[in-house]
Amino acid sequence: MSDTAMTTDWELVVGLEVHCELATATKIFCGCRNQFGDEPNTNICPVCLGLPGSLPVLNHQAVELAMRLGLALGCTVEPSIFHRKNYFYPDMPKDYQVSQYDQPINVEGFLELPDGYRVGIERAHLEEDTGKSTHVGGGGRIHDAGYSLVDYNRAGVPLVEIVSRPEIHSAEHAKAYVNELRAILLATEASDAKMEEGSMRVDANVSVNRPGDPWGTRAEIKNLNSTRSLGRAIEYEMRRQIDLLESGERIIQETRHWNEEDGRTHTLRSKEEAFDYRYFPEPDLVPVAPGAEWIGAVRDALPVLPAQRRVRLAEQTGALPAEVAMVVERDLDGLVLDAVAAGGVAARLLVHADNNLAEGAGKLDAAGFASLSKLEADGAITATQAKAVLQELVASGGDPATIATAMGFEAMDDSAVAAIVDQLIADNADAFQRFKDGDQKVTGFFVGGVMKATQGKADGKVVTRLLQERATA
Ligand SMILES: [Zn+2]
Repeated sequence: MSDTAMTTDWELVVGLEVHCELATATKIFCGCRNQFGDEPNTNICPVCLGLPGSLPVLNHQAVELAMRLGLALGCTVEPSIFHRKNYFYPDMPKDYQVSQYDQPINVEGFLELPDGYRVGIERAHLEEDTGKSTHVGGGGRIHDAGYSLVDYNRAGVPLVEIVSRPEIHSAEHAKAYVNELRAILLATEASDAKMEEGSMRVDANVSVNRPGDPWGTRAEIKNLNSTRSLGRAIEYEMRRQIDLLESGERIIQETRHWNEEDGRTHTLRSKEEAFDYRYFPEPDLVPVAPGAEWIGAVRDALPVLPAQRRVRLAEQTGALPAEVAMVVERDLDGLVLDAVAAGGVAARLLVHADNNLAEGAGKLDAAGFASLSKLEADGAITATQAKAVLQELVASGGDPATIATAMGFEAMDDSAVAAIVDQLIADNADAFQRFKDGDQKVTGFFVGGVMKATQGKADGKVVTRLLQERATA
């Protein structure tokens, strides 16, 4: 089946549930350290082990971080209560998880992707994390393991679960959603958002339907731990469901597991096996009802968020928000804006920040960045030379003009470049004829030839202009 057939015959519907561990010093209901990677079962106490007679006390900072995240997602902060979600699993010592159920702390927000698409957020509620099981032997999964170990250090770590509306219609948007959410978590310092350490975990609800039809039956894919896995799992699951439906079969509502090795999703449990969680209000905790003053203070202290930073950078450089997404993601927008303010040439600054500063700005400062872009825009150095000077600025700092001179970069006289262009044309008459016939690919051949002959000192734009002049002469 081709992609075209799928996108016209079928519509993909994805909703995401993302669990994020909050960056508090201690756990949500006790004073144990909230720290990844400590020796197993060292950050535990009677409360997070669920021992009889112990009582929870809600962590003020967990509530504040949850509100900060909710407000950054455009949510309304509501009075909320905790419930007990009852089920048995060895990594959950209390036999219930304390979670917000029908009255979550944050409701009705949205997340805006770099291309401007908005995904609704249904809720972002507080809950506690479980411990962590390690299945030893076999394939590392419980059914063929020799034995299992359990670490309760994570039990009781505060989580926010962010539930999107099912408004995502491509794997690309799903990945962009997770990237954007991660950027917001980092900007608000609500979480360190490390997918590889499990402090940010993604479940995807996936279904397909023919355009105009009601939503199809969904499958929930659990615990995707990278955006790459998320994208692959959604693509696989979409194909699996379409193939079943097109061969006349039905989709079963179930929970599935993504296997990175075989690139497939597998059944974990079907709807018939789904747990009955017997939710009831947690009797040991009072309702959470932050006052208007506290909510206002949290809102006022919010940082400038990634979406606002993209708009600000785009407005001040004449680009589009989607075009500057990577610059903001790399945290280079402040540097670019300062360089623009120092008289830099915005278009050149953005190209370098987008293409040549993936490892960060190092010792590059705004004044140096600005003067580099001016040297380049004035034609004093070529784009290739500017890149070399930029590398030196990142490594050691300094003055771009001085570095360019030290590197032997001087603008080549146009007539000297023209002589080389003419020689290349004379030596490659066939290629030049193709250029005259409109074959744009040959441009690279000539520009490359001139660069080789001049050790990169010629300006590619000048070469292209000279070629065009000769082609139309
Ligand atoms: Zn504890």
